[in-house]
Amino acid sequence: MMIQKIRGTRDILEMKIINKIINATKKVLHSHCFNEITLPILESADLFKKTLGETTDVISKELFLVKNTHEENDQICLRPEATASTFRSYILNKPIQNPWKVFTYGPMFRYERPQKGRYREFYQLNIELINAKSCLYDIELISVLNKIFKNELKINDFQLEINYLGESHDRKAYKEILKEFIFSSANVPEKIVDLASKNILRIFDLKEEECKKFLSCAPLLTDYLSTESLENWNTIKNMLDILNISYTSNPKLVRGLDYYNNTIFEFTSSHLGSQNAFCGGGRYDDIGYNMGINEKIHSLGAAIGIDRIALILEQINPAELITNKKYGFLVLNEEYNIEALNLISELRNYLPIELYADKNSLKNGLKKADSEKTAGVFILGDNEYKENKLMYKNMNSGEQNLISFSEINAFAKSLL
Ligand code: AMP
Repeated sequence: MMIQKIRGTRDILEMKIINKIINATKKVLHSHCFNEITLPILESADLFKKTLGETTDVISKELFLVKNTHEENDQICLRPEATASTFRSYILNKPIQNPWKVFTYGPMFRYERPQKGRYREFYQLNIELINAKSCLYDIELISVLNKIFKNELKINDFQLEINYLGESHDRKAYKEILKEFIFSSANVPEKIVDLASKNILRIFDLKEEECKKFLSCAPLLTDYLSTESLENWNTIKNMLDILNISYTSNPKLVRGLDYYNNTIFEFTSSHLGSQNAFCGGGRYDDIGYNMGINEKIHSLGAAIGIDRIALILEQINPAELITNKKYGFLVLNEEYNIEALNLISELRNYLPIELYADKNSLKNGLKKADSEKTAGVFILGDNEYKENKLMYKNMNSGEQNLISFSEINAFAKSLL
């Protein structure tokens, strides 16, 4: 039996939209002085276990561990995300630039149940600002993302949801209040009871209707923030208002990874169905402590889901899928192969040319060119060859021109 590809992975046969997303994003990021970096796909599993949290789905169920027969003690995994790796890289490389404003893109791996917009190998573009304390950097990050999605990619109907998780002392006090609420209530859904002892904030991520109903009157973290946290939260919202960045404040937004504090956000789109988030991020000021660094290194970042943006663009602008304009060159007799090679090479200085060499008749060649939506076809047949000329057929109008070999360059230029 033919060997199949691994479940949840894809052969991507058309990179046009993905390249467009990456190029548009890079352009905006460069204008904001972010530097591109590349990080390994293989990392120590401990890096993620310590930072993402042992009870998160990504760590407890979805990590792709690599069988490591050479260094028995060090468990290796395929990276499930890039924030922890970027922070590790900052600590190890001690870059001079501070804040370290960087971005990277590539495949991430999570053993999830595959469905539309959710794969086991997927692509993210990650943006991180490490050693960046001021809340102006929160705004810098959100506004750069807003600019990428709205101005460059022209996704106009997305929603930005933000929430404020406060500092660890805010959350510690709030978690007790939340526990009190759960354990003093009747008919608590089982999933909530289960999470309450493991990772209580994640109860707000539960999708079941009975859980949502139960949580509709739960106390909210933003109502229990310290004065300092509340001030910071209000400042951030105020700055977003001033910049005219629309957002919804969602006090029940929690993100799937444990390292976040203070500002967190998610960009969602109604074009995506149940997996509706196409970008998420926030602050992770305390991540260093989890890696054994004894100092607070204020940092924040975001992960853009490239596959999900591609799904959005395919829907809002299907024309994006049409491949670039191209022209054909039809060689009807092998005797002219050398002449054909020279002419194609000249034409390719100006135009994208597809070679049709295996078509044994003019009819077959034109049929193929038509099926591939070529703009026009250059034909080298017996009559043309004898006269040192090429036939050009415009595939839209049907119009034909005979062009001397010596005028080929000028003619190609006229098609630009
Ligand atoms: P996260 O790293 O979980 O914060 O996710 C950031 C973004 O990556 C999400 O908003 C999605 O757009 C994308 N993403 C996360 N997991 C997957 C997946 N399994 N397949 C496709 N995209 C994903």
